[in-house]
Amino acid sequence: MSEQTETRGTRRVVVVGAGMAGVQTAVVLREKGFSGPVTLIGAEPHQPYDRPPLSKAVLLGKAEGSAFDVDFEALGIELQLGREVLGVRPGDHELDTATGPVPYDVLVLATGAEPIRLPGAEGVPGVHLLRTLDDAERLRPVLARQHDIVVVGAGWIGAEFATAAREAGCAVTVVEAADRPLAGALPAEVAAPMAAWYANSGAVLRTHARVERVEDGTVVLDDGSRVSAGAVVVGIGARPATAWLKDSGIELGTYGEVVADDHLRTSAPDVHAVGDCASFPSGRYGERLLVHHWDNALQGPRTVAANIIGESPEPYDPVPYFWSEQFGRFVQYAGHHASADTTVWRGDPTGAAWSVCWLREGRLVALLAVGRPRDLAQGRRLIEAGTAMDPELLADPSRPLKNATA
Ligand SMILES: Cc1cc2nc3c(=O)[nH]c(=O)nc-3n(C[C@H](O)[C@H](O)[C@H](O)COP(=O)(O)OP(=O)(O)OC[C@H]3O[C@@H](n4cnc5c(N)ncnc54)[C@H](O)[C@@H]3O)c2cc1C
Repeated sequence: MSEQTETRGTRRVVVVGAGMAGVQTAVVLREKGFSGPVTLIGAEPHQPYDRPPLSKAVLLGKAEGSAFDVDFEALGIELQLGREVLGVRPGDHELDTATGPVPYDVLVLATGAEPIRLPGAEGVPGVHLLRTLDDAERLRPVLARQHDIVVVGAGWIGAEFATAAREAGCAVTVVEAADRPLAGALPAEVAAPMAAWYANSGAVLRTHARVERVEDGTVVLDDGSRVSAGAVVVGIGARPATAWLKDSGIELGTYGEVVADDHLRTSAPDVHAVGDCASFPSGRYGERLLVHHWDNALQGPRTVAANIIGESPEPYDPVPYFWSEQFGRFVQYAGHHASADTTVWRGDPTGAAWSVCWLREGRLVALLAVGRPRDLAQGRRLIEAGTAMDPELLADPSRPLKNATA
């Protein structure tokens, strides 16, 4: 065991992945008074940055970048950027990189997720992904040239990209294999009104449209139809970036994610995992959650840092939260729902502002708010507290959510 030392304060913490979860882990360690060496290793060459602006202000050139406002030097956090970690040997407490091994006493896995690629479209000119700053920078001139753009996938990223592309004056066709947008995230009745948002923005949404191949300048669908494309943007989901862990012996789950416990510890000693790369058991929802949203990458590090410095934190059991800005709307979701939960509507989904609540045994477990941030703020607290609601009162959109309890 290479550099392990006796006292907690001088143990060397190495964080792999310099996105939100990795940066936040390093920063919170310092906030909590950890004085030992902290090294943050990231594969990307850029100063660590935030991802949500990439599909919004950065894409449209309204912001140059989205670097975190963190003075790493002042915090005594050693940054090793442009360095990809290739493997880990937990028995030796060592990481492997192309330029040699890196010893650690405590390791934090925060390698996030990577976009799923469209089979057969890799390397085809004009086919883009949107995950990194480099991706966004490649896409900016595409928008500026006002190409005809085909977006593959009507998920969160597809919707946000389509929004930006319409704003930039591009002709946009979104092709989606399912029968509706956000099929993986929301039930049909909730997603149905969102289909109209595409048309209202001037984008064409084609559902039941599976891409067979992309040829030079054309997307060919499985019904034989062809859509001409000056550029293709693929937004068909992301998977945990954990290929580098496959020979490590660290337990990986169904989606290739690191399987963490309720304190975000992995199956290997002294190894923690946080953010998009890890799932954790939720006592609140009675199932394992793999959350690919910003708030989880912000909150999880508090638990990780507390564990590292030897505090005994509560189990990590958040009410998941995320937002999306699409087609001029602010969409927010808190909690986690299952198909058996009862749906209660607040407001008219063809209007500008409405919410949907999900109840389980009378208690609020999840909420989607479109243009109703107050519903979200109050709902989040009610979900956290496991408050029982009165469905009739809840269905009245003029009544504050907090006044709709049973
Ligand atoms: C375009 C875009 C828009 C988004 N918008 C929203 C939004 O509006 N709302 C919301 O809630 N969420 C949004 N998200 C999701 C949110 O950004 C992620 O949940 C969050 O970035 C996760 O943080 P992370 O640190 O876990 O992973 P990441 O941000 O993916 O960071 C992981 C880092 O680890 C590095 N890495 C990977 N493998 C290795 C390796 N082997 N060695 C070294 N480094 C490695 C990667 O290069 C990467 O920089 C968006 C995501 C994207 C891509």
